[in-house]
Amino acid sequence: MRYLWPDYVYTPRGWQRDLLVALDEEGRIAGLQPRFAADGAVFPLPEGAVVEPLPGKALLPGFVNVHSHVFQRALRGLAQRPVSGHDTFWSWREAMYAEAQRLDPERLYTLARATYREMLAAGYTTVGEFHYVHHQPDGRPYPSPNLMAEALLQAARDAGIRLVILLAAYARNDFGQPALREQRRFCDPSVAAYLGRVEALRALGAAVGLAPHSVRAVPEDWLRAIAAYSRRERLPLHIHADEQPAEIESCLAACGCRPLELLARCEVLGPLTTVVHATHADQRELALLASSRTCVCLCPTTEGDLGDGIPPYRDFLAQGIPLAIGSDSNTRLDPFEELRWAEYTARLRYGERRVLVAGAAASPGPYLLACGCEHGAAALGVEGGRLEPGRLADLVAIDLEHPMLQGWTTENLLDSLFFGASAEVVRAVWVAGKQVYVR
Ligand SMILES: [Zn+2]
Repeated sequence: MRYLWPDYVYTPRGWQRDLLVALDEEGRIAGLQPRFAADGAVFPLPEGAVVEPLPGKALLPGFVNVHSHVFQRALRGLAQRPVSGHDTFWSWREAMYAEAQRLDPERLYTLARATYREMLAAGYTTVGEFHYVHHQPDGRPYPSPNLMAEALLQAARDAGIRLVILLAAYARNDFGQPALREQRRFCDPSVAAYLGRVEALRALGAAVGLAPHSVRAVPEDWLRAIAAYSRRERLPLHIHADEQPAEIESCLAACGCRPLELLARCEVLGPLTTVVHATHADQRELALLASSRTCVCLCPTTEGDLGDGIPPYRDFLAQGIPLAIGSDSNTRLDPFEELRWAEYTARLRYGERRVLVAGAAASPGPYLLACGCEHGAAALGVEGGRLEPGRLADLVAIDLEHPMLQGWTTENLLDSLFFGASAEVVRAVWVAGKQVYVR
C-alpha cells in the first residue's frame, strides 16, 4: 500500500491535518487515516507500506472540466482580432469553423496532448471533451469512422488526464436548414449511424457520453432516440442550450417553445443530463431543470469572452440545480479563475456579494469547490470529486507556502484559493493514484 502524507487534506468534513491518504492498486482511495495517535505516537502501518511525505502541501480532489472543445485552444489570442464591424458569438463562430476545417487527426492529437497537459498543470484531472469534428472536411468518413475521437483518446492517455468523450451528434445548421459546407464534417447521415459510432467507441473501452450538439443542430427524433439510449445504457448526456438569444428565438419560431421546453418534451432532461450554459433560461425553463434534476455546466471565462451574458446564478441555487464548470473554448485553463468568475459575474449581475454559497452563513469557497469537483464528477459519471474511501485517487497538491496564499488559515484557505490565487499554486497532480504532473 502507498500513502500520501500532506500537511492537510480536504475531506467531506473539511480540512484535516496529518491524514494519510492510502492509495490502492486500482487507482482509488483505499482509506484516510491519522498519521499520529492522540498521544503523538506514529500509527503503525502494514509491512512494506510506502509513505510519501508532502510537507507544506494540502490535498484537494482533482478538478473536473466538464465541457471542453480542445481544438479551440488554437484560437487563443487569434480570435480577439476583428472579424467584422460588429463582432459577436456568431462572427467568432466563423473563426472557429475556419480552425475546425484545418484539423486532421495528427493536428488534433498534437493540439489535444498539449492542451490536456496544460489542464493537468492547472489542476484539472478529468475532462469532458465535447467532440464534434468527426469526419473529413468534405463530410466523408475517415477509413475508421472514429479516427478523430481515437486521436483524442490517445492524446489523453499520453498526457495522463482522465477523459470522458462526449461524442456529439450533429445533423443540420438550424431548424429546417441543412448543414453549411463548413459543418459537413460534424454531421452523421442518421441517428443510427451516430449511435453506431458511439457503440464502436465504447467497444474500445473508452468512457463515452452522448452529446446532441443543440436543439439547432439536432432534430426532435434524434433527440428522443439519443435520450432513450442514454437512459437505457446509463450514460451521461450533454447538450448546449440557451447560450444565445437567437437560438431561443429560432426555437420559438420553429417549435412554439423555448429550447429547454423542447428538451423536456423530447425527454432529454433528467439526472443523467447536463445542459451547457443555460445563460438565458427563463423561469419556466429553470423549473424544468430543477424538477428533472438536470445539471447545468457554466463556462464563465468563455461566456465572458464570447459576450454570451451572465447566467441566472441565484435562480440555479434557489431551485437546487447542481452547477459544474467547463473551460469550453479553452481561452483560459485555470479552475480557480473559472470559479472566481462564476461568483464575480453573479455579483455583477445582482449587485451583491456572496451569491454562490451553500447557506446564508457560508463563504463561497466550499460551494465553489463542490461545483469544480463533486458536481462535475457526477455530471460525467466519474466516481471522483471527493477525497473519501472508494473514490478515484484523482488529487491535486497545493503549495501552502506560495506567496499568493500567505496568511491562510484552515477557516479561509478555500476562499484564499478561489479569490486570491491562480493555478500557479498547483504543485503536483495525480490521476488514478499515478503522479502525472509535478512542478
Ligand atoms: Zn461548447
